[in-house]
Amino acid sequence: MTTLLYTHSACLEHDPGAHHPESPARLRAVLAALSGPEFAGIERREAPEAAIDDLLRLHPRRHVERILAAVPTAGHVALDADTVLSPASGRAALHAAGAVTAAIDAVVANEADNAFCAVRPPGHHAEPDRAMGFCLFNNAAVGALRARDVHGLERVAVVDFDVHHGNGTQAAFEADNRLFYASTHQYPLYPGTGAAGEIGVGNIVNVPLRPMSGSGPFRRAFDERVLPALDDFRPQLVIVSAGFDAHRHDPLAQLMLDESDYIWVTEKLVDLAARHARGRLVSTLEGGYDLTALGASAAAHLRVLMAA
Ligand SMILES: [Zn+2]
Repeated sequence: MTTLLYTHSACLEHDPGAHHPESPARLRAVLAALSGPEFAGIERREAPEAAIDDLLRLHPRRHVERILAAVPTAGHVALDADTVLSPASGRAALHAAGAVTAAIDAVVANEADNAFCAVRPPGHHAEPDRAMGFCLFNNAAVGALRARDVHGLERVAVVDFDVHHGNGTQAAFEADNRLFYASTHQYPLYPGTGAAGEIGVGNIVNVPLRPMSGSGPFRRAFDERVLPALDDFRPQLVIVSAGFDAHRHDPLAQLMLDESDYIWVTEKLVDLAARHARGRLVSTLEGGYDLTALGASAAAHLRVLMAA
């Protein structure tokens, strides 16, 4: 079976400014790391724009219209201190969400075992009615709601190992027991949510980790908390919010993981998908701000997906 890679050139053109960490160079680094002959077996597909109806399952129409109307024809527009639009940002955001919905359609249709969406802007901080934290639309959550409503899946999980808590995904899921969200993240850290006591309707698992905690506590969090809860939930589709900013070289956080941890966690998630979801797994890029670590970590993640 096949691993699919969805991306789009618009995602390279979204440019929040010269000194912004969420730079086009991030996606260039990921694509360069996936360009070698060992990745020739990946089937590469152009990400479509998300249908507005897919966005509207999660985001109120006023949010979608506010984002798209704010896109400047030149220069930059800041939605908050972190979240900045350039002329290509609207198209990039539509293709980033569309990558995840298309990848889910393909994996549910059994065209491939799994898929990775190499996209930006990232999504997991975007709440239903609020763009924040570099995120405009919540790509993973938009995909999960399409899987629920269009494909009729009764149990969809998002697993988020980005170093930041995915407050947006949690906000989207916390009242719906057909959806499940699990996150490991450095705590305290932006955005400040993700305490262990935030459990939704029993469908949210947050495992906050102390700065400098490294590999041991991260793997124990998965072995003792995240994976047992996911086994109880029995997801029919596993969506991964794959941020690589918990890497020890990342400039925005101090969780001190390395590529071996990303290999380990990806193997665990592939096994989880095999147990419950006929292998169906769709991963989408969230954070990761050291370009070398980001490329190496994404490559390590894809090697495991290709071997699934
Ligand atoms: Zn992050």
